[in-house]
Amino acid sequence: SMMFGKVKTCNSAAADTRPAECNLVLLGGMGCGKSALAVKFLTKRFISEYDPYLEDIYSSVETVDQQSVTVRVMDTCDQEGPVNSERYLSWASAFLVVYSVDSMQSFAGCQPYLQTLALHNKTPIILLGNKLDMDRYRQVTRSEGEGLASLFHATFFELSACQDFLSVQHVFYEAVRRVRGV
Ligand code: GDP
Ligand code: MG
Repeated sequence: SMMFGKVKTCNSAAADTRPAECNLVLLGGMGCGKSALAVKFLTKRFISEYDPYLEDIYSSVETVDQQSVTVRVMDTCDQEGPVNSERYLSWASAFLVVYSVDSMQSFAGCQPYLQTLALHNKTPIILLGNKLDMDRYRQVTRSEGEGLASLFHATFFELSACQDFLSVQHVFYEAVRRVRGV
């Protein structure tokens, strides 16, 4: 049976073993743009005023690398850093930790989430510096973002919820790929 297993992984049927479901959770301080990113990914639209206290799970069937996958996105809103983290720690298959590049406070605020994930050995982690369109008011350099990401073995991106849809979609699709182990 070992041999059959080996043959199967060399065969295109190996693709069928990829998870058809992917649960993504958005974590980070208030105001960094978690809801804006979730809404952009799911609707291609930027909603500038979104209920800051709304926490919900959205679902969308996506095609990532020719493979269909049900992507669920949990948009969280913690008012005081990571509390009740049990609700997403075992639910999520990948963790998107967000700060905004124009806010050093948000950069500090995302770190307790990274520590909580590290404490529970949770991976994969994607660290996102949002509001890249606010580059003029940047408080967090790209290399500070990269440094934090490498400390927690996270994949790092800077992006903007209010700019092009494809770069937002790319980040969510990369999360799916990380879950698939690609
Ligand atoms: P959340 O608390 O993390 O869910 O943050 P929201 O998604 O509610 O966004 C907080 C504020 O930042 C809102 O006024 C959004 O319009 C704004 N915002 C979110 N993403 C961006 C972005 O990429 N660029 C800019 N300029 N503003 C953004
Ligand atoms: Mg929100």
